[in-house]
Amino acid sequence: MHLDTDIVILGAGLSGLAAAEALSAAGERVILLEKERLAGGLARTVAYKEHKFDLGGHRLYFEDAALAARVEKLLEPEPLLRLRRRSSNYVGGRLLSYPPTLLNGLLYAGPALLKRLRGPGLKPPEGSLKDWLHSRFGSGIHDAYFKDYTLKVWGLPTESISSVWAERRIGPLSLKNLFLEMLSIKSASKENTLDFLYPRGGIGGLCSALQKNLPAGALLTGAAPLEFGTGGGKIDSVLFEQDGKKRRIACRQVISTIPLTELAPLFKDDPGPASSARGIKYRSLIVLFASMKRKAPLRDHWVYFPEKEVFFSRACELSNWSPALAGPGGALPITFEVFCDEGDSTWRMKDEDLLRETERSLRAMKIFGGFETAEFTAVRLSHAYPLLYSGFEGPLEDLKSALAGYRNLELCGRTGAHAYLDMEECLHNAGAAAARVLAKK
Ligand SMILES: Cc1cc2nc3c(=O)[nH]c(=O)nc-3n(C[C@H](O)[C@H](O)[C@H](O)COP(=O)(O)OP(=O)(O)OC[C@H]3O[C@@H](n4cnc5c(N)ncnc54)[C@H](O)[C@@H]3O)c2cc1C
Repeated sequence: MHLDTDIVILGAGLSGLAAAEALSAAGERVILLEKERLAGGLARTVAYKEHKFDLGGHRLYFEDAALAARVEKLLEPEPLLRLRRRSSNYVGGRLLSYPPTLLNGLLYAGPALLKRLRGPGLKPPEGSLKDWLHSRFGSGIHDAYFKDYTLKVWGLPTESISSVWAERRIGPLSLKNLFLEMLSIKSASKENTLDFLYPRGGIGGLCSALQKNLPAGALLTGAAPLEFGTGGGKIDSVLFEQDGKKRRIACRQVISTIPLTELAPLFKDDPGPASSARGIKYRSLIVLFASMKRKAPLRDHWVYFPEKEVFFSRACELSNWSPALAGPGGALPITFEVFCDEGDSTWRMKDEDLLRETERSLRAMKIFGGFETAEFTAVRLSHAYPLLYSGFEGPLEDLKSALAGYRNLELCGRTGAHAYLDMEECLHNAGAAAARVLAKK
């Protein structure tokens, strides 16, 4: 059976769902193809036995008050919790507040501040994350807070990560603003925002609310796109497979929110995109959920673990995020984030081995005291982060130019546009893609 629609959207994460909601509200016929059995992508909340957990800590923060109000309305009647951020870095056997407290800030950024007060400014920013941090804060902040953590999360040293990532993640943070943040006077960067919002039942509430607004039949899950039909510089159909059956959808427009490395091979008659996509890289993530019997929860919402001896990079204490994530009782739920590359030795570890390595690190650290794991499971995310290595812009531009030959294709969202976007930016990005599609009508 052939299908016919106005717009095919590839991927039903936050961006795909938001674009679909906007377009169907405008009267367009939309079909979303999602290869997983459930929608939500990176921003979903996993239900496991009696537990619920997000795929890594996800907090909502908005610069756009109108969008915040719209999200609040969308989630009704579920309340949005307003939480004051508590997070730390575990270094040298101690938990250091992150963003840095005034004392830590003076210790690590003080020399750079003195140097700046005394004489000519520091070097202007350059191409890598290391240069970017050195030029703004000196080596102290780089060494204490970024050097080891970057290597663990990205698998690359700060010299090999593009300063574009620093601009995205750390933003317009100057030495002066850093000290204002340390005094809790002002949050200059969005990343270091002091308060955040959180849907009571988990971050997945946002995607579920968007999904509920879609017309019946608009979302096809377990549906993998196989190839595009093309002609005259346009995509005119999408062949996909669901439950072992292949079907083709004729369409006017395509919005892609899937990884560029999955999009490019869909052009079977045009090797250009697939060959340009070779320089596009991602970092993968394993989220290990464990319900652990222990005396008390950690103080923080999340803790970073930059030291290489510690198996995981970040832990989220779920009961601090919402009582709805606190689990059935008797044990405290927690997630551990382990970064790796798809297919490497960590990626291939059995869940039991992931737990064993995690427990070994916890015993060595002793911040947990005694513990006993009651239940655990692991979720693997192959395309968790677009990898913004130094020089990624060239291959990305090449691929975008190859794709620009298809006039009715829009790239959208964090994964689809290969940009380090947070959830607010994904919502904006999806709205803009939907508006462009409507304008082309
Ligand atoms: C660990 C972690 C923590 C984060 N914390 C925060 C935070 O605190 N605050 C914040 O604002 N943002 C946070 N983010 C970012 C946030 O998760 C993303 O901005 C957002 O979820 C991206 O949505 P998306 O739809 O663009 O991409 P995705 O969620 O990646 O959606 C893409 C969808 O496409 C599907 N797909 C993939 N390949 C195919 C294919 N071949 N065919 C069909 N479908 C396919 C996927 O299954 C997925 O559903 C975090 C991200 C991570 C990984």
